[in-house]
Amino acid sequence: MTAPATYEIHAIRYAVNETRTRGQSFILEARPTDILPMDFYCWVLIGPDGPIVVDTGMNPEKARHHGHTMLLDPVEALRGLGVDPERVETVVLTHAHYDHLGHLAAFANAHFHMQAEEMAAITGPYMEKRWFRRAYEVDEIVALVQLLHAGRLTLHGRERTIADGVTVHWVGGHAAGQEIVCVRTARGTVVLASDALHYYEEYERGVPFSVVFNSTDMIASHDTIRALAPSDDHVVPAHDPLVVTRYPASRPDLQGKVVRVDLAPVTQGGGGRA
Ligand SMILES: [Zn+2]
Repeated sequence: MTAPATYEIHAIRYAVNETRTRGQSFILEARPTDILPMDFYCWVLIGPDGPIVVDTGMNPEKARHHGHTMLLDPVEALRGLGVDPERVETVVLTHAHYDHLGHLAAFANAHFHMQAEEMAAITGPYMEKRWFRRAYEVDEIVALVQLLHAGRLTLHGRERTIADGVTVHWVGGHAAGQEIVCVRTARGTVVLASDALHYYEEYERGVPFSVVFNSTDMIASHDTIRALAPSDDHVVPAHDPLVVTRYPASRPDLQGKVVRVDLAPVTQGGGGRA
């Protein structure tokens, strides 16, 4: 009997915003002017079914426009890990915000996956409202429509198996079609929470993030994450600078840039099972 497929998960820290305040991230924040830096990550799963890319980072021009500092090019970072973007067959898009959808063209031969509800929302009447469209970029939505019509985008229902050991689960909240990704690793299932959790703190305090489509779903997503993760140390948020300090570097020369979240954290989390 062969062992079930397990994956390495490399979290690529490709951008940072060092001037962001707590008031920009949390609703009714007690210390709104305190600085709380934001990191930006995308991920690659490396396993027997080939590399699976989860989100594709941010376009550098859009990073500038939104006040973020690019630290590295996610596509080059993938190459540095031995992943040729041209040969990637599967890309999962956890939602369609601009910081998860850059560099789509680099994956010229890939098939993409996204929640059907996300596509419905970003091409429907919600986008008449500035509040709902503020984290989307129209050229990137057009690119998704083009991928769809080229037969290269699957818009799936709420639960989907992407590969043996890789499943996606709708949680909504932050975006209409926000999903999380469960990955089988040697230490058990790791939950890539994507933007269901920007910071560990949301999970630990049970509070919503400021960029929100539906706050009820956002809070409920914390329970979904708890149900799917074997422990809080198996939960990985998408924007927390603590990620890069908690997990070992993928290689010594990638310290502070790319970490292995399939491995046990080097330092313990705060514990979110209140
Ligand atoms: Zn994000």
